[in-house]
Amino acid sequence: MIDQRLKSVVRDVYDFPQPGIVFKDITPILKDPALCKAIVDAFEARLQADTIDVVAGIESRGFLFGLMLAQRLGKPFVPIRKQGKLPYRTVAQSYALEYGEATIEVHEDAFNAGARILIHDDLLATGGTVAATSQLVQRLGGLVAGYAFIISLDFLKGKERLADYSTQVVSLAA
Ligand code: IMP
Repeated sequence: MIDQRLKSVVRDVYDFPQPGIVFKDITPILKDPALCKAIVDAFEARLQADTIDVVAGIESRGFLFGLMLAQRLGKPFVPIRKQGKLPYRTVAQSYALEYGEATIEVHEDAFNAGARILIHDDLLATGGTVAATSQLVQRLGGLVAGYAFIISLDFLKGKERLADYSTQVVSLAA
Protein backbone atom coordinates (compact mmCIF):
# COMPACT_ATOMS: atom_id res chain seq x y z
CA MET A 1 0.00 0.00 0.00
CA ILE A 2 1.29 3.43 -0.95
CA ASP A 3 0.47 4.96 2.46
CA GLN A 4 2.71 2.42 4.22
CA ARG A 5 5.52 2.98 1.72
CA LEU A 6 5.25 6.74 2.24
CA LYS A 7 5.18 6.43 6.03
CA SER A 8 8.33 4.32 6.00
CA VAL A 9 10.21 6.81 3.81
CA VAL A 10 9.06 10.29 4.92
CA ARG A 11 11.15 11.32 7.90
CA ASP A 12 10.25 13.42 10.93
CA VAL A 13 12.71 16.23 11.59
CA TYR A 14 12.34 17.67 15.07
CA ASP A 15 12.56 21.41 15.79
CA PHE A 16 12.56 22.47 12.12
CA PRO A 17 12.14 25.22 11.00
CA GLN A 18 11.74 26.30 14.64
CA PRO A 19 11.71 24.70 18.08
CA GLY A 20 8.61 22.58 18.80
CA ILE A 21 7.78 21.82 15.14
CA VAL A 22 8.01 18.25 13.80
CA PHE A 23 8.65 18.68 10.07
CA LYS A 24 7.73 15.95 7.59
CA ASP A 25 10.71 15.75 5.24
CA ILE A 26 9.63 14.35 1.87
CA THR A 27 13.06 14.53 0.20
CA PRO A 28 13.79 10.80 0.77
CA ILE A 29 10.87 10.05 -1.60
CA LEU A 30 12.81 11.71 -4.39
CA LYS A 31 15.64 9.18 -4.04
CA ASP A 32 13.24 6.34 -4.94
CA PRO A 33 12.17 6.54 -8.60
CA ALA A 34 9.72 3.63 -8.25
CA LEU A 35 7.98 5.36 -5.35
CA CYS A 36 7.83 8.65 -7.29
CA LYS A 37 6.12 6.80 -10.13
CA ALA A 38 3.77 5.06 -7.67
CA ILE A 39 2.72 8.47 -6.29
CA VAL A 40 1.76 9.72 -9.75
CA ASP A 41 0.03 6.38 -10.47
CA ALA A 42 -2.00 6.70 -7.24
CA PHE A 43 -3.01 10.29 -7.97
CA GLU A 44 -4.08 9.31 -11.48
CA ALA A 45 -6.11 6.37 -10.18
CA ARG A 46 -7.89 8.37 -7.47
CA LEU A 47 -8.61 11.62 -9.34
CA GLN A 48 -11.38 12.15 -11.84
CA ALA A 49 -9.31 13.40 -14.75
CA ASP A 50 -12.36 14.45 -16.74
CA THR A 51 -13.15 17.08 -14.08
CA ILE A 52 -9.71 18.75 -14.37
CA ASP A 53 -8.47 21.24 -16.98
CA VAL A 54 -5.29 22.51 -15.28
CA VAL A 55 -2.98 21.38 -12.46
CA ALA A 56 -1.67 24.17 -10.18
CA GLY A 57 1.29 23.40 -7.91
CA ILE A 58 2.33 25.45 -4.88
CA GLU A 59 5.94 26.59 -4.41
CA SER A 60 8.19 24.85 -3.94
CA ARG A 61 7.57 21.21 -3.08
CA GLY A 62 4.27 21.34 -4.96
CA PHE A 63 6.27 21.78 -8.15
CA LEU A 64 7.99 18.39 -7.81
CA PHE A 65 4.96 16.19 -8.35
CA GLY A 66 2.63 18.87 -9.74
CA LEU A 67 4.31 18.98 -13.13
CA MET A 68 4.68 15.18 -13.23
CA LEU A 69 0.96 14.82 -12.49
CA ALA A 70 0.01 17.42 -15.08
CA GLN A 71 2.13 15.58 -17.67
CA ARG A 72 0.51 12.27 -16.78
CA LEU A 73 -3.00 13.74 -17.09
CA GLY A 74 -2.06 15.59 -20.27
CA LYS A 75 -2.99 18.95 -18.70
CA PRO A 76 -1.23 22.33 -18.43
CA PHE A 77 0.72 23.13 -15.26
CA VAL A 78 0.53 26.47 -13.42
CA PRO A 79 3.04 27.49 -10.72
CA ILE A 80 1.68 29.29 -7.64
CA ARG A 81 4.62 31.24 -6.21
CA LYS A 82 5.63 33.30 -3.24
CA GLN A 83 5.45 37.06 -3.63
CA GLY A 84 7.92 38.67 -6.01
CA LYS A 85 9.06 35.53 -7.85
CA LEU A 86 6.87 35.52 -10.97
CA PRO A 87 8.15 37.83 -13.74
CA TYR A 88 4.96 38.78 -15.58
CA ARG A 89 1.80 40.55 -14.30
CA THR A 90 0.37 38.78 -11.27
CA VAL A 91 -2.67 38.52 -9.01
CA ALA A 92 -1.79 38.18 -5.30
CA GLN A 93 -3.53 36.72 -2.28
CA SER A 94 -2.42 37.24 1.31
CA TYR A 95 -3.28 34.89 4.16
CA ALA A 96 -2.63 34.61 7.86
CA LEU A 97 0.14 32.43 9.29
CA GLU A 98 0.44 31.45 12.94
CA TYR A 99 2.77 34.42 13.30
CA GLY A 100 2.35 37.03 10.59
CA GLU A 101 1.20 36.87 7.01
CA ALA A 102 2.22 35.33 3.67
CA THR A 103 1.39 36.25 0.09
CA ILE A 104 1.15 33.98 -2.95
CA GLU A 105 0.86 34.98 -6.58
CA VAL A 106 -0.14 33.60 -9.97
CA HIS A 107 0.30 35.07 -13.43
CA GLU A 108 -2.87 36.86 -14.50
CA ASP A 109 -2.95 34.86 -17.76
CA ALA A 110 -2.18 31.49 -16.12
CA PHE A 111 -5.50 29.97 -17.22
CA ASN A 112 -8.76 30.97 -18.89
CA ALA A 113 -11.89 31.95 -16.97
CA GLY A 114 -14.01 28.89 -16.34
CA ALA A 115 -11.02 26.51 -16.21
CA ARG A 116 -11.28 23.75 -13.60
CA ILE A 117 -8.13 23.76 -11.49
CA LEU A 118 -6.72 20.87 -9.48
CA ILE A 119 -4.57 22.30 -6.66
CA HIS A 120 -1.58 20.22 -5.63
CA ASP A 121 0.86 20.55 -2.75
CA ASP A 122 3.15 18.06 -1.04
CA LEU A 123 1.50 18.39 2.35
CA LEU A 124 -1.75 19.69 3.86
CA ALA A 125 -1.35 21.10 7.37
CA THR A 126 -3.82 23.79 8.54
CA GLY A 127 -5.11 24.34 5.00
CA GLY A 128 -4.24 28.06 4.99
CA THR A 129 -2.01 27.84 1.92
CA VAL A 130 -4.46 25.91 -0.24
CA ALA A 131 -7.44 27.97 0.96
CA ALA A 132 -5.57 31.11 -0.20
CA THR A 133 -4.72 29.37 -3.48
CA SER A 134 -8.41 28.51 -3.92
CA GLN A 135 -9.34 32.18 -3.44
CA LEU A 136 -6.72 33.16 -5.99
CA VAL A 137 -8.11 30.64 -8.49
CA GLN A 138 -11.64 31.96 -8.00
CA ARG A 139 -10.56 35.62 -8.31
CA LEU A 140 -9.12 34.77 -11.75
CA GLY A 141 -12.42 33.19 -12.77
CA GLY A 142 -11.28 29.60 -12.28
CA LEU A 143 -13.17 26.80 -10.56
CA VAL A 144 -11.53 24.60 -7.94
CA ALA A 145 -11.80 21.04 -9.30
CA GLY A 146 -10.15 19.44 -6.28
CA TYR A 147 -6.99 18.91 -4.27
CA ALA A 148 -4.18 16.36 -4.34
CA PHE A 149 -1.68 15.97 -1.49
CA ILE A 150 0.97 13.37 -0.82
CA ILE A 151 0.46 13.79 2.95
CA SER A 152 -2.32 15.35 5.02
CA LEU A 153 -1.84 16.01 8.73
CA ASP A 154 -5.45 15.20 9.58
CA PHE A 155 -5.22 16.25 13.24
CA LEU A 156 -4.86 19.87 12.01
CA LYS A 157 -8.26 19.60 10.27
CA GLY A 158 -7.12 21.31 7.06
CA LYS A 159 -9.64 19.33 4.98
CA GLU A 160 -12.50 21.10 6.79
CA ARG A 161 -11.31 24.42 5.32
CA LEU A 162 -11.46 23.02 1.80
CA ALA A 163 -15.03 21.73 1.88
CA ASP A 164 -16.42 25.08 0.70
CA TYR A 165 -14.37 24.90 -2.51
CA SER A 166 -14.39 21.24 -3.60
CA THR A 167 -15.13 17.81 -2.18
CA GLN A 168 -12.55 16.09 -4.40
CA VAL A 169 -9.68 15.81 -1.90
CA VAL A 170 -7.08 13.09 -2.47
CA SER A 171 -4.28 12.48 0.01
CA LEU A 172 -2.08 9.41 -0.16
CA ALA A 173 -0.99 9.24 3.49
CA ALA A 174 -2.06 10.79 6.80
P1 IMP B 1 -0.75 24.88 5.75
O1 IMP B 1 -0.94 26.15 5.00
O2 IMP B 1 -0.77 25.08 7.24
O3 IMP B 1 -1.70 23.79 5.30
O4 IMP B 1 0.72 24.37 5.46
C1 IMP B 1 1.02 23.70 4.27
C2 IMP B 1 2.20 24.33 3.60
O5 IMP B 1 3.32 24.35 4.47
C3 IMP B 1 2.59 23.50 2.38
O6 IMP B 1 3.06 24.35 1.35
C4 IMP B 1 3.68 22.60 2.89
O7 IMP B 1 4.67 22.37 1.92
C5 IMP B 1 4.26 23.36 4.09
N1 IMP B 1 4.47 22.51 5.26
C6 IMP B 1 3.91 22.65 6.49
N2 IMP B 1 4.34 21.69 7.32
C7 IMP B 1 5.14 20.91 6.60
C8 IMP B 1 5.87 19.70 6.90
O8 IMP B 1 5.85 19.15 8.02
N3 IMP B 1 6.58 19.16 5.88
C9 IMP B 1 6.60 19.70 4.64
N4 IMP B 1 5.94 20.83 4.34
C10 IMP B 1 5.22 21.42 5.30
